[in-house]
Amino acid sequence: MQSQCIFSIQTPVGPPVEIIRHTFPSQSAKPIKRVSLVAGLHGDELEGLYICHRLMQALKKLEDKNPSALKGEVNIYPAVNPQALETGTRLWPFFSVDINRTFGENNTPSLTADTAKALFGDIKSHSDLVVDFHASNLQLMELPQIRIIQNFEKTLVPFAQLCNVDLIWVHPHAEIFESTLGYNLNQARVPTLVIETGICLRIHQNYCDQIVLGILNLLRRTGTLDLKEPSIEVTPARLVQPEYVAMIQANHAGLFIQQAEIGQALNQGDKIGDLIDPVEGQVLEEIFSPCSGLLFTLREYPLTGKGAPLARIATEEPA
Ligand SMILES: [Zn+2]
Repeated sequence: MQSQCIFSIQTPVGPPVEIIRHTFPSQSAKPIKRVSLVAGLHGDELEGLYICHRLMQALKKLEDKNPSALKGEVNIYPAVNPQALETGTRLWPFFSVDINRTFGENNTPSLTADTAKALFGDIKSHSDLVVDFHASNLQLMELPQIRIIQNFEKTLVPFAQLCNVDLIWVHPHAEIFESTLGYNLNQARVPTLVIETGICLRIHQNYCDQIVLGILNLLRRTGTLDLKEPSIEVTPARLVQPEYVAMIQANHAGLFIQQAEIGQALNQGDKIGDLIDPVEGQVLEEIFSPCSGLLFTLREYPLTGKGAPLARIATEEPA
């Protein structure tokens, strides 16, 4: 493993903050494929850091025991927003900026925009395929999924199907995506998968195990790793088009009490939870599934305002 600092930021009183790339170089004269893994753009999303840690362990072992298996190159950027990660916050502290909204055309000079530019340039010049790991916010638990903007569907779905996620959610383009790392890499013709899993500030070992297997499978199936063992059985993900997602929102403010499990196959009318008024001792609303389908997003944070999302279901029929 070769490690390189790709960007260094001075801090007022301490040592500089550095963004590190670890490279597992190809043992072939020309790498079959260069795959990059990026984690920690949002400093409160920790699942990707753990996934990268697990993959680095596996790749280090491979370098020791079976280096010729590395037919391609793997680049790991395990913590690309160190200052936010140190404080466990989504936004870059001090500036309160979401770095994943500063990629692409950005004419406002700032340290965040400079960092985004340096990171983008480094990833672009070292990658034929990228996986960008995210977790959900503090409110909603997400089943391991890959989100794809409709325009990139044709290129990305075949790669996404290798990653052992439960769901591939194709959604329409929106202006907000235009400043993200994933969108800009895809625009620059570097296929980039955005994985969303779990919930922020936590690590779900089962989900991480599932994705680690998926990434190993992706590395194998793209020829990056020439490995036969262990055999990996990857379940094909459910491909979900935009009109096949039903969102359930709260009609009242209250506490949401779950009565379903994420990943559950729901039938129409199944109970998802109650919305209660804890002060008056009333059930404000019983939440039932309006359709059959896979419960892939579920509210974890009980405090709920009117209109807040409670659940998302991948439906059998157009929602
Ligand atoms: Zn994120």
